[in-house]
Amino acid sequence: MDKHGHIMKHNFMESIWNNIPDGIVVIDLDENILDVNPGFEALHGWKREELIGRPCCFTPVHLLEERRLMIEKAKHGESLQCQETFKLRKDGTMVYVSLTLTALRDENGNIIGVVGIERDISDRIKMEASLFEAESLYSHLADSALAGVFVGQGNRILYANPYLAALYGYTNEEMLQVDLKKLMLPGELEVVTRDAQVTLMDQKQIYFHFNITGVKKDGSPVHLEGNSCLISFQGKPALLGTVQDITIKKEKERSLRDSANMYQRIIKFLPEPIVLIDNGEIVYANKLAVKLIGAADDSEMVGRPILDYVDPAYSDDLMDVLNKVIHTDDPTNFIENKLLCNDGQTIDVEMSSIRIHNYRGKMVILTVIRDLTDRKRSEEMLVRSEKLSVIGQLAAGVAHEIRNPLTALKGFTQLLKSKAEGNSFYYDIMTNELDRINFIVNEFMTLAKPHFSKFSTRRLDHILHAVISILETQAILMNVSIRTEFENCIPSIYCDENQLKQVFINIIKNAIEAMPLGGQITITAAMEPDHERMRLTIRDEGMGIPDEIIRQIGQPFITTKEKGTGLGLMISSRIIEQHQGLMNISSVPGEGTTIEIILPLNTEEQ
Ligand code: ADP
Ligand code: MG
Repeated sequence: MDKHGHIMKHNFMESIWNNIPDGIVVIDLDENILDVNPGFEALHGWKREELIGRPCCFTPVHLLEERRLMIEKAKHGESLQCQETFKLRKDGTMVYVSLTLTALRDENGNIIGVVGIERDISDRIKMEASLFEAESLYSHLADSALAGVFVGQGNRILYANPYLAALYGYTNEEMLQVDLKKLMLPGELEVVTRDAQVTLMDQKQIYFHFNITGVKKDGSPVHLEGNSCLISFQGKPALLGTVQDITIKKEKERSLRDSANMYQRIIKFLPEPIVLIDNGEIVYANKLAVKLIGAADDSEMVGRPILDYVDPAYSDDLMDVLNKVIHTDDPTNFIENKLLCNDGQTIDVEMSSIRIHNYRGKMVILTVIRDLTDRKRSEEMLVRSEKLSVIGQLAAGVAHEIRNPLTALKGFTQLLKSKAEGNSFYYDIMTNELDRINFIVNEFMTLAKPHFSKFSTRRLDHILHAVISILETQAILMNVSIRTEFENCIPSIYCDENQLKQVFINIIKNAIEAMPLGGQITITAAMEPDHERMRLTIRDEGMGIPDEIIRQIGQPFITTKEKGTGLGLMISSRIIEQHQGLMNISSVPGEGTTIEIILPLNTEEQ
């Protein structure tokens, strides 16, 4: 220690020796350690006591030759600055240092040893390495990203990755030349810049989101969506961001939206009751479904379990079906079910279900409901009208059978009258009554017999009187009187007589049936002012037709009568149509009904 006591003389030097973070080692010419500072102790992990007097050996084997050369040079007075190399620690690990070697001289200038100063640069190296890595990582990311990446400042693009350039149809170099304004629709840059300022500066958000319509090199538009953040580039603020081409996404969205809209419209206007079910809960009910259930509107049904509207006897089956259909794209067959309506009634229905992939973003089940009530009723009615037509045919046969004995009866009555004295009055009555029976039977036959339409000119009053005489008996039984008011001139019309008779029978029968306690039927006929048509009205004083029936009149099987067919008015209006006429029904419930028929005379057509 005495050898280098002079180094330590100054407090100043001592302070540096003790506090400098660099490691300092002093060796003699034999390369034995004379001293190390605390920095060296910290750097290598040895204690000073362990090192002094020992040979200096902190070099990994593979660098020994390099070290030898360096020390030789130092011993010859050549100083070595900032040589980067590895040194060994006590624990065997290596530390990367920047090494400076200088010769140690005595007062006379003779070299007596070497001083080594080591600065730990492993952190710096690590940082440099990671910087390099990060940089290459980022540039790699940006270059290979499947999104546009840019740095923009002022009106220029400072950096654009190849993807962005390709998106715009420019080369990378061109991209850096082009004015930012030209990269989007006019006015958009100003809007985006203002938005960026507001979000980044005022609201202090880190990112700012934008949507622009980019303008490609060839002038075609491209929908872009992106994020951007504020960075400092070369001391000035710049925007770093990414953009994505969303043209396809937009188109997809639009076509999805379009098709969703279309489906919703289709569902809305489908002429069948339809409900959409999500997890057993009704999420949509169209108008007809609302009507079928008898709900006030759809909001009453939406949100409720479908089972609220299903007869409990059918609910398990329905749930099975719904649970199955949600896992397949196939629709179910129409399956019979019973629904509970709001008025407490149950109705027979058939239901078919299919899953729908995207109803407001959800997978739901669409169920079509078919109301079987009407069908069941019309099946019943068909059977009934079939029965009626069979009875009609039978009646025609029976009528035929009656006519022969009638002819005999009439002949013998006349014979008896000619032979008997007095009482001829009674024979006249009998003959008249027999004539009436004959007339009615004949009418019956012609009406019941199927026939092709046969047009001819007929007098309307004859037709009406024939009908009245058929219905008279029934009218008298019901205490109904039939009054006819014909204007002076009695029109003849070109018509199918039997068909018109059928019309009047239907209408007058309805009128009689409407007055169970009796009353009057008034039939009037008059020329229209144009003298080309005539107007016939048949008015009763009955109970009238309820509004809901009047609206449906003309449809088959609409009847309020237990034994009704609901066919009479439908057939009548068809017949009048065939005569190019009009039939109009007006009714005041409780006061009576008026049927008005307008028929063209059609005399020319004869
Ligand atoms: P049906 O007489 O077999 O019921 P219609 O077609 O002749 O069939 O009549 C249909 C329905 O119209 C009747 O059930 C009845 O409710 C109503 N209706 C028809 N005419 C009258 C009337 N003159 N007065 C009251 N209701 C009537
Ligand atoms: Mg009728």
